[in-house]
Amino acid sequence: MTEQDLIAALQQQLSQQANVTTRPVTVAGSHYPYQPLPELGQGFSGFCEAFNSTIAPQLSASNGPRYWGFVTGGANPVATYADWLVSSFNQNVSKGGDSIASTIERHTVRWLTELFALPSQFDGLFTTGATSANVLGALTARQFAGQQQGINVALQGFYGVACQVFSATPHASMQKALGFAGFGQQQCQQVARLAGTEAMDVADLAAQLAAHQRNNPASTAIVIASAGTVTGTDYDDLVAIAALCHEYQTWLHVDAAFGIFERLVFGADGKTQGLEFADSITLDCHKWLNVPYDCGVFLTQHIDVLKATCHVDAPYLANDDDEIPFMSLGIENSRRFRALPAFATLYTYGKAGIKTQIEKNMNQAKQLADWLAQSQAYQLLKPCELNVVVFALKHGDDAQVRQLLADINATQQVFMTPGRWQGRAAIRAAFSNWSTTDEDVALVIKLLGELAERL
Ligand SMILES: *Cc1c(COP(=O)(O)O)cnc(C)c1O
Repeated sequence: MTEQDLIAALQQQLSQQANVTTRPVTVAGSHYPYQPLPELGQGFSGFCEAFNSTIAPQLSASNGPRYWGFVTGGANPVATYADWLVSSFNQNVSKGGDSIASTIERHTVRWLTELFALPSQFDGLFTTGATSANVLGALTARQFAGQQQGINVALQGFYGVACQVFSATPHASMQKALGFAGFGQQQCQQVARLAGTEAMDVADLAAQLAAHQRNNPASTAIVIASAGTVTGTDYDDLVAIAALCHEYQTWLHVDAAFGIFERLVFGADGKTQGLEFADSITLDCHKWLNVPYDCGVFLTQHIDVLKATCHVDAPYLANDDDEIPFMSLGIENSRRFRALPAFATLYTYGKAGIKTQIEKNMNQAKQLADWLAQSQAYQLLKPCELNVVVFALKHGDDAQVRQLLADINATQQVFMTPGRWQGRAAIRAAFSNWSTTDEDVALVIKLLGELAERL
């Protein structure tokens, strides 16, 4: 392969990138006939031929402006370039001492705490996503519970540590994390929700924590709160919850994967008020910061507890950096230079640029919600307060709503995903891509209008 071949391939990729706005948003029923592993390499040109003819046409436009499923960010151009730098320099950010990469990761973590106006005690690291940040949240909480009871869980194991997890609407990845950490997905104590929302009923939490202390005085409580649930975009009252956590000496982990971006618009005294009291926080950069996968962040005010959770002594891994090596703060030993695309994004766009983009997405969600609210056929299931629009049919059962979602996605013009709202089938449209325009919203509104006529 010559350098020319590579440059030509990159140029072609860049021109295809433009297609992301025009090609089908999703591709159903993908197909790749099995071929035996080639004995002889097919060469770079062979791979490019296979990729361009068979693989690329069957990839979704998840990086494009009308992929509104889940909560999906696009990769902004600067971060995409930085991500390519990450691969081409291929640093192993496991520990410092040999390069500046660890310093840049620490710098970027600090920038994120500034972006979100969090106290400077928060420290942490980049993870593969919010799921692994939630795993670190569960593991660190478990270590804390052990510390309360004189047991170093990382060294001695979890046996004999008494603890109870409380949560109202934990994200599915948080449940998974509780399973990994040995708490058990089903052992999480359900806290009641406020009527008509996914937010925690703090009075119920207070009653449950009091009962827990009365009945199990030796047991440590752990509270998992949400700052932005995926369907309702509801926020737990973190000020009140943090006060209870302080009273009962619990660990408070807040999953703020995408909801933390609300802070850029409404400030530290908006819906995330109290986040500054969390013991640990999960956030996702590959969602609303629009950097490529995989990029989440785990923050904690107790870096020593995180280190106690993740550190292992190994002479061959010793380094001569004064700072805690990242391999002692996270799951992986070898780690890619995951912070660079986030660093590049913050450097290029600044706080103001990112805030503008968040406001733009919120405004687009509102445009769709306002249209649905006045439509004859559709029903907006809850007021849109952030970036997720939840709707169903005015007259239609769950099966008809599911069919409608299939019809919407079959247009290949837009992609939305299912949800449940107050026991009913619902459709979610989430806005978190930097490249979405108001014209995209208008296009989908027109399409929804046409589908309504056919109902
Ligand atoms: C997306 C999301 C997660 C999981 O994040 P991944 O990056 O997909 O691992 C966790 N919590 C919340 C609230 C989310 O929105």
